[in-house]
Amino acid sequence: MAMPLLCPGCGKREGVRLVLGYPNPAARAEIDSGDAVWGGCSLPHPPPPRPWVDTACRACGAQWSSEAKPSR
Ligand SMILES: [Zn+2]
Repeated sequence: MAMPLLCPGCGKREGVRLVLGYPNPAARAEIDSGDAVWGGCSLPHPPPPRPWVDTACRACGAQWSSEAKPSR
């Protein structure tokens, strides 16, 4: 189990991997166990530019990219 990331929205350590699109079996298992959040089947079109939003907060629902780390 990966350590949840610090949420830039609410400050809780509840940031887990955000799964977009149809989850494969491994991703499905992570979602079922709470280690990941499913963002839905529909991908934005056209796809957003990088950095991809790949992290979601289990507490407040905020979504952000783990590549764009806040400086504080
Ligand atoms: Zn949050």
